[in-house]
Amino acid sequence: MTGEMKMYSFGSLIDGQELKSGERKIIEVKRPYDGQLVGKIFCATQEEVEKAITAASRAFTTVMKTMPAHRRSDILRKTADLLEVRADEFVTLLAMETGKPVREGRVEVSRAVQVLRFASEGAKQIHGEEIPLDSAIGGERQIGFTRRYPLGVIVAITPFNFPLNLVLHKVAPAIAAGNTVVLKPAEKTPLSPVLLYKLFEEAGLPAGVLNILMGTGPDLGGPLVRDPRVKRVTFTGSGLVGWKLKEMAGNKKVTLELGSNSPNIVFEDADLDTTATALINGGVVTAGQACISVQRVYIQRSVYESLVEKLVTKAKALRVGDPLDEATDVGPMITEDAAKRAEQWIQEAVEEGATVLTGGRRHGTLFEPTILANVTANMKVVCQEVFAPVISVIPFDTENEAIEMANDSDLGLHAGVFTKDINRALRVAEALETGGVWVNEASIRRYDHIPYGGVKLSGIGKEGVRYAIEEMTEEKFIGIKLS
Ligand code: NAD
Repeated sequence: MTGEMKMYSFGSLIDGQELKSGERKIIEVKRPYDGQLVGKIFCATQEEVEKAITAASRAFTTVMKTMPAHRRSDILRKTADLLEVRADEFVTLLAMETGKPVREGRVEVSRAVQVLRFASEGAKQIHGEEIPLDSAIGGERQIGFTRRYPLGVIVAITPFNFPLNLVLHKVAPAIAAGNTVVLKPAEKTPLSPVLLYKLFEEAGLPAGVLNILMGTGPDLGGPLVRDPRVKRVTFTGSGLVGWKLKEMAGNKKVTLELGSNSPNIVFEDADLDTTATALINGGVVTAGQACISVQRVYIQRSVYESLVEKLVTKAKALRVGDPLDEATDVGPMITEDAAKRAEQWIQEAVEEGATVLTGGRRHGTLFEPTILANVTANMKVVCQEVFAPVISVIPFDTENEAIEMANDSDLGLHAGVFTKDINRALRVAEALETGGVWVNEASIRRYDHIPYGGVKLSGIGKEGVRYAIEEMTEEKFIGIKLS
């Protein structure tokens, strides 16, 4: 694919109006691969934060509270259809603003279409349940049931790495459930969220239901999450920011989808070829900048040498380069600073005794897929989120030792276990302290309708369309005493 070099220029979108004029901060959006200008955004002012929440509050009362489920479902389905037709523009834009290879961009767009379709179906499935009141002494001749109601205004703050799909994981369930949204997308990748907004508009979403604020987190985050009219804050991003926002949000409901250092455990009976492929892919998708990237690989000692050899061979075969080139496997990291930080962590690890088996080098924003051995539990590349295409390989002897090392972390989002023994697989899956576990698949795997969210410092709450709809609605009990 050759990139159509289009220049985008977007302001905030509040109550259906784009706000670009007047004196305001401008942020340039550049291709991570070569620094070429892709677009610019005109940032929102503090008064516009207030305006966006006012617009969302009004749209909730005047539009969404009375919009029937079939209409919300139609809008989401039409948006999915439009996105499917315009997929190519999104794929190119994702490559330009995030640096992800076009092959990965196609996956993101196709998943985004599915999120919209799951939400379209989910909008028609929101219901409570009947409670048999006569189960309680005194509950005779009474009827009890629950109904689910939308919350109102939802503030959504999203990261740079999947600017289309992770925006939709918040916006689509919010609309399905009948809420309104003020979205602050990542300022590094704010363009695809605006193209998405235009599809929603074309599909018939009324003004004020979705509002987008352009700007940096430190400028807009505080006023957004502190506003008492906001009923839920849903944040995806780094732990550092997420936990701070939770404090600022006071007594509001909060969803935090944060980072991890995903463990993957390989037992000696695993199929080593398919395991190696799954682990390498899982370590380099989005240049390792995914929250469930494969980071720590624990390998049973008897197969350690042979699996490591396969991993190294596969890592060396990957093509690192221009995300617009169909042949590219691994694109650039989001900024040179991010790549330098990963380089620094590897240098530190090497000084402390780690060995670079392959990779380890940076060329501008490009980072070679890297495999590290002889690491220890307290090295940053192991105990923190490395967020780069860097995998550490660690041998183990017993099942308990592997579980202990995998759980020796403040983080816990997804894990992978590779074995042919179903009993062992289930034992390990139960013992791992993570929000999700894959058997014979790497931690990176996610489908958009599974419950998804971390434990420990990896977050609170769940996404995955149905689960997000649940979190974005309030269940109310209604009881009737019959005469
Ligand atoms: P980030 O925390 O730097 O930014 C995320 C969002 O928060 C952006 O919109 C940013 O503008 C905003 N922000 C930054 N500082 C803020 C502040 N002080 N107040 C309010 N908002 C602020 O994260 P990032 O670099 O964009 O994304 C990478 C992180 O996101 C990684 O840790 C990754 O693991 C995590 N992530 C988690 C998931 C998940 O589903 N669990 C998915 C993708 C990414």
